[in-house]
Amino acid sequence: MKRIYLDHAATTPVNPEIVKAMLPYFNETFGNPSSLYSYGQEAKRAIEEARDKVAGIVGSQGEEIVFTSGGTESNNLAIQGAAHANHHKGNHIITTSIEHHAVLEPCRFLEERGFMITYLPVDEYGLVHPQSVKEAITDKTILISVMHANNEVGTIEPIAEIGRIAKQREIIFHTDAVQTVGHIPVDVDELGVDLLSISAHKLYGPKGVGAIYIRKGTELTSLVHGGEQEKRRRAGTENVPGIVGFGKAAELAQAEMGKEEQRLTLLRDKLISDLPRRIDHIYLNGHPTKRLPNNVNMSIEFIERELMLEELDSQGIYASAGSACSSSSTEPSHVLVALGLGGEKACNSLRLTLGRETNEDDIEQVLEVLPQTIDKVRTMSELLEGLARGCCG
Ligand SMILES: *Cc1c(COP(=O)(O)O)cnc(C)c1O
Repeated sequence: MKRIYLDHAATTPVNPEIVKAMLPYFNETFGNPSSLYSYGQEAKRAIEEARDKVAGIVGSQGEEIVFTSGGTESNNLAIQGAAHANHHKGNHIITTSIEHHAVLEPCRFLEERGFMITYLPVDEYGLVHPQSVKEAITDKTILISVMHANNEVGTIEPIAEIGRIAKQREIIFHTDAVQTVGHIPVDVDELGVDLLSISAHKLYGPKGVGAIYIRKGTELTSLVHGGEQEKRRRAGTENVPGIVGFGKAAELAQAEMGKEEQRLTLLRDKLISDLPRRIDHIYLNGHPTKRLPNNVNMSIEFIERELMLEELDSQGIYASAGSACSSSSTEPSHVLVALGLGGEKACNSLRLTLGRETNEDDIEQVLEVLPQTIDKVRTMSELLEGLARGCCG
């Protein structure tokens, strides 16, 4: 049975070329980049090369890139770092109700410690309206954080418009661009952001490494203290192999981006148009066009979502019920709730996120298998309900 992995929003496989680039940095060029002998200096040079490649993919200067342990740390550094460094100017932060937990949780953490947080609503497509950002700003606002694209429903937010508002009011603007960097064009100046989070493992790089772009002059307090690394913005001996892999991943992504974006959009739109023709009571979540090229998210009524995912798994199709984080709980996704969905539509969602190795045959296979699976799951659910009511027999 062919395995079809359709959960690229959760993580991506590391490209063999990237693994190859990383290998020497485990046991050949293994020196500490802070050491002055040649082993260390070679590792340091490798880090600086990777820094330039990562900077290149977001249109920034190398010195504005700080390596971290991933998207979660970058978001924490952006939110907590900007809050602490600018506390003397105010205590108000604006974010949205559909952010990743790695933005929402640091906001809640600050809220418990005296900060005021506004969680902006979104429309039925998951779009944040720039006007609502404008109206939420007060004299005390020190930070605005709006994600570039949502990891569950794929909606791409009007970041450049919000960036213009933030700039006019001289407020630090952060975007969580973990789902967009390496997939669609991202340019820190066009977007008008001061802080931007990136994660390597969402663009075919290794897990446990990421970066934050910090515009020159942006005041940020570090979270991790204890060394001179990353110009004191993030202490700790660098993850050299990881950073090298991240750099390579950025380079490959940049080379393939336009072509890959087009290819995936066609495959995505095939699923979006054909699935509702083959399955009843299925609805697209997120914006029909302002969405990530690889994201399909649909609510399916009259199913048990765990049962559906198990059945798909047994057919070799690996998909998710939304975000990786909420699929283990039975809580409806905070994103779907924010889109105004209730009941079954908020609980029974299916997210298919395509990637570099996804091809037309895979899409055909999904179009074949998914309707059968839904039928089966619906029949099983009816049987289970019947059993529960004691009326089978
Ligand atoms: C995956 C993800 C993160 C977390 O990144 P990690 O590198 O896994 O910590 C943050 N934000 C978004 C939108 C994501 O999709």
